[in-house]
Amino acid sequence: MKDFYKQSVEDVCSHLGTDPDKGLSSEEAKKRLEKYGPNELAEKKKKTIWRMFFSQFTDFLIIILLVAAGVSILVGESVDAILIMIIVVLNATLSTIQESKAEKSLQLLKKMAAPMARVLRDGIVQTVPSREIVPGDIVILEAGNYVPADGRLIETVNFSVSEAALTGESQPVEKTTDLIDQENLPLGDRTNMVYSGTIVSRGRAKAVITSTGENTELGKIAKLLSEMEETQTPLQQNLEKLGKQIGMIILAICAVVFLVGIFEGEPALEMFLTAVSLAVAAVPEGLPAVVTIVLALGMYNMVKRHAVIRKLQAVEALGSVNVICSDKTGTLTKNEMNVVKYYLHPSIILDQEQIKSQKSEHIEKLFMGAILCNDSFITVKNGNRVTSGDPTEIALALAAMDYGFDKNELEKRIPRIHEIPFDSDRKMMTTVHEFEKKRLSFTKGAPDVVIKNCSKYMAPDGEIKVLSENDKNEIEQANMKMAQDGLRVLAVAFREIGDDYSELEKDLVFLGLMGMIDPPRPEVKDALERCRTAGINVIMITGDHKITAQTIAREIGILSENDMVLTGHELIEMDVEDLVKVVDKVKVYARVSPTDKLKIVEALKKKGKVVAMTGDGVNDAPALKKADIGVAMGITGTDVSKDASEMVLTDDNFASIVAAVEEGRKIFDNIRKVVYYLLSCNISEVVTIFVSILLRLPLPLIPVQILWMNLVTDGLPALALGVEPAEPDVMKRSPRDPKEGIMSKEIMTNVFIGGTILSVLTLFVYSWALLEHDQIELLRTMVFFTLCTGQLLHSLNSKSIKLSLFKVGIKNNPRLLIAIAGSFALLLGVIYLPILQNVFGTTNLTGKQLVVSLIAAIMIIPLYELVKVIRYRKKE
Ligand code: ATP
Repeated sequence: MKDFYKQSVEDVCSHLGTDPDKGLSSEEAKKRLEKYGPNELAEKKKKTIWRMFFSQFTDFLIIILLVAAGVSILVGESVDAILIMIIVVLNATLSTIQESKAEKSLQLLKKMAAPMARVLRDGIVQTVPSREIVPGDIVILEAGNYVPADGRLIETVNFSVSEAALTGESQPVEKTTDLIDQENLPLGDRTNMVYSGTIVSRGRAKAVITSTGENTELGKIAKLLSEMEETQTPLQQNLEKLGKQIGMIILAICAVVFLVGIFEGEPALEMFLTAVSLAVAAVPEGLPAVVTIVLALGMYNMVKRHAVIRKLQAVEALGSVNVICSDKTGTLTKNEMNVVKYYLHPSIILDQEQIKSQKSEHIEKLFMGAILCNDSFITVKNGNRVTSGDPTEIALALAAMDYGFDKNELEKRIPRIHEIPFDSDRKMMTTVHEFEKKRLSFTKGAPDVVIKNCSKYMAPDGEIKVLSENDKNEIEQANMKMAQDGLRVLAVAFREIGDDYSELEKDLVFLGLMGMIDPPRPEVKDALERCRTAGINVIMITGDHKITAQTIAREIGILSENDMVLTGHELIEMDVEDLVKVVDKVKVYARVSPTDKLKIVEALKKKGKVVAMTGDGVNDAPALKKADIGVAMGITGTDVSKDASEMVLTDDNFASIVAAVEEGRKIFDNIRKVVYYLLSCNISEVVTIFVSILLRLPLPLIPVQILWMNLVTDGLPALALGVEPAEPDVMKRSPRDPKEGIMSKEIMTNVFIGGTILSVLTLFVYSWALLEHDQIELLRTMVFFTLCTGQLLHSLNSKSIKLSLFKVGIKNNPRLLIAIAGSFALLLGVIYLPILQNVFGTTNLTGKQLVVSLIAAIMIIPLYELVKVIRYRKKE
């Protein structure tokens, strides 16, 4: 069947073999998934392992090294040259393995962030990954959803879709279910169809899926769309810059080494190989790659803690977050609502049990409103209730069902014919129903908003009376009382209505208040305490009533004596500048609209804060974008909010934000440690060789030794440092200044100090050896052994930039110990195994020589401890 827009809903459904009220059966959906394939577009071809491998050889220095090695082979120095090539290949292999591992974690993350869709299957509304949608599925679309595949609309309420992605039209298009009898209509005019990749901007709809994956309109043009470029994070860019700067210095030094060597009468080719090997070993061209690996591994860890990072750069910003603005409902609280109190006017307060035991027209009407003015789905499966939808609405419906109503039966008997959907800005919702030939509307929403629109109330005897100002005050008092108990309160009202819907929410008849509890998440208190010690300010933002918000904020410890609470009303009166003046004192924003959130972020950012902000709705998107870290809710959040965010919480839990901040700080620390370690080792090699040359000593290391050292020390210990557990004070220090780069002056100074100490120790051994012996192989072996061991041990110093190794301990990262032990064993192999002695130009060390070298190498630990004491003890 083509041109579904020209067919009636019935024809389309029967053609696709589906039931608009029940959807497909799960088995049928499974069969179709096999037949039609997953609902996704072919991905851009991934880089193959071979391409990754060969791209390692595009580095300029590596090419020079390979050329130089080739030349050596030609002039007959083949053993050395072949070995150089082997090491270069090994190095490339190691980098390839790392890169593909990082790539895999990134792919996995992408999968985790994959969109979900709501479908009707087996008569139950369920959430499934969008890729499992098949033709014939009945999908439910709401504001903020991405349309998962192409479909014909079968039910719409105030429904409009933004199709800019497909048609370029920026204005949302109003959609209906009406059949269109016109040939060759352009996509933009097919107003009874929805298309994959477009976004629901308003309302609600049901659609039957007509095509999926590559067969969708988006699939047809997907080849024209270029995939989003993977951009480098600022950290990676900075490091690349830093790497280049350091690289230039090292290259200059290598050139000097080469020239001085020639001047001293060393053979030109050997000198050239040495200089180039030194350059290859010491130029930190691999820095950005290491960072990517640590970032990717870190992101992977975060997933375990329920935070999915969507953009790599967010990891860096996370470490410097100093304000978290969190929604209350569902993030700080459990979002497990339960109606516990009712207020009926005048002056009747009932609890759950009490209301159940009373039967009256009044109470029935209240519950009818609660159930009919409601978008949640509740079905009974094997005697259990299966719910889906907004927890507030689920709670209202369940309360009514407990009273004795059958939701599905009632919805059929009193069908909905019109509605004004709920919207966080309006804070109420209205539905119109046909009942016994009459039209009836129900409105529910925030009490202050609903009561304003009421002119009458229903009394317990069923009589409808005029609502005086006095009555309104009384209801407001009751509302406050409930709010003081931390309850979330909704008012329900109704009215009879004619054909004219323009006054739908005016002149309402007040029915009652329903108060529900939503207990705080138990883990939140601890998470807030961690924020306090970590210097992170937590602010609660909620659409709920001021008093409810205050009560909950006090209970969990966000609000104390001198803190301020602002409401949406007060915010409207202020501009950003006014807000900046008080923003530091405000801990709770109540009854705010999503649009106010933007103002709050702006004010905080003007104060120089690094802000994480949560959000779930469509209207939250601008604030999420503006925040340094937009945090979307994985369960309740709309696709639009997720798209605007840097991070998605898979459990909607505040504690997961704090966990992510902790991970972010840890990752930043670890990258710093790795970079610190690599650079100080590189410096130690350069300084050792440079000083030897300047002192007119024989070359202390030969090219293969330099390259081997670089491969082994840079390889395993550096990677192990990248997965260091968090330092004990990670959440006890203030957030990092966002302006402070990864390699601050302070850290660079440390790099030079660390590198120089290593070289001094090595040169000390070299001089000692020179006094005692004159066999050049032996001298070099001692230098090689000392420097390698010293570098391996220096990885322990790098476990913390500031804290003493004794405070951090060595046992918390067994991988590092294994890496050190493994590398050390390899080192002994290179020195003592006869066949390796031949290729690496090494020779047996006597016990005495070994002990002297070892003592010198071990000295790096106490000496660096001393540096930490001198540099950091005072500051503490
Ligand atoms: P948070 O920002 O902490 O998630 P919230 O969920 O309470 O706050 P909204 O969903 O914007 O914020 O709700 C604002 C107010 O609107 C609520 O206090 C409630 O009175 C009312 N309300 C919430 N949900 C509905 C609904 N489905 N229908 C009618 N009114 C609602």
